[in-house]
Amino acid sequence: MNSKELKDKILKLKKEKNAVILAHYYQINDIQEIADIRGDSLALAREATKLSSDIIVFCGVRFMAETAKVLCPDRKVLIPEMDSVCPLADMATREEVLKKKEELGNTTIVSYVNTNVDVKTVSDICCTSANAVNVVRSLDEKRVLFVPDRNLGSYVKEQVPEKEIVLWDGYCPVHEEYSVENLKKLKEEHPNAKVAVHPESPKAVREMADFIGSTSGIINYVNKTDTDEFIIGTEEGILYELRVNNPGKKFYIIGSKSICTNMKKITLESLYKALKDEIYEIKLDEETIELAKKPIERMVSIKRT
Ligand code: SF4
Repeated sequence: MNSKELKDKILKLKKEKNAVILAHYYQINDIQEIADIRGDSLALAREATKLSSDIIVFCGVRFMAETAKVLCPDRKVLIPEMDSVCPLADMATREEVLKKKEELGNTTIVSYVNTNVDVKTVSDICCTSANAVNVVRSLDEKRVLFVPDRNLGSYVKEQVPEKEIVLWDGYCPVHEEYSVENLKKLKEEHPNAKVAVHPESPKAVREMADFIGSTSGIINYVNKTDTDEFIIGTEEGILYELRVNNPGKKFYIIGSKSICTNMKKITLESLYKALKDEIYEIKLDEETIELAKKPIERMVSIKRT
């Protein structure tokens, strides 16, 4: 089947089964094109709670589909590729986090939403890249263990100096690869371009940026900034949304291979198969759902950013 035929079949099946397709901004263009909703991980999970569909097909990495299941336990949540995992999330396990907490003593565990569900079950509060600063600032507790991204954690540390923040040694392989040299070269080639980077980028790169923000934050920044050229520091899938909203603007991505290979595992074929056969369902036991829901709900209850 060619792409057009596959897309038609997926859209027909989706209607018949009362399913909804959610796609992260880092998915391949074909998937983003037929998705009902595109967004970042938490926005998608939040949207899922508002829908009345029986099936949610989550096109993203596994922790995102798990978060959707935690927030919508009565729905069937499918992920088209079970091995679409996030290497950053895999850099912290529940046991390692508990061990570190024991070593540190009285410490609040702040987990980036990019953690696997078992880590969320032992976390005090979650955060996203969009609200991490606000979440940490809102805490009464002084000492925080920030899991698992050291770059986002160091960014939060800079913004909230009054807290004692212990960083986990994790990183996103896509953003970690950005270098000052890459960025300098791009700035020389495009001197009028504004630079917008994700806080998962290394500190030296963040320091050269005009804007630091989450995927949604970068999209909003580009939409409202009256400039024609932008240097973007995040996964290249974001270009789909940026170009849809800003057809006249030009974009240059930092790094030679700013591609999350896990995000790109999902194809039209795998999406079609998952929906047709209703396979690769995210299954979580009740206790896990209850425990993981608490830090997510605590995050949602603080001021929304
Ligand atoms: S881009 Fe980085 S943080 Fe996002 S899913 Fe891929 S590895 Fe994980």
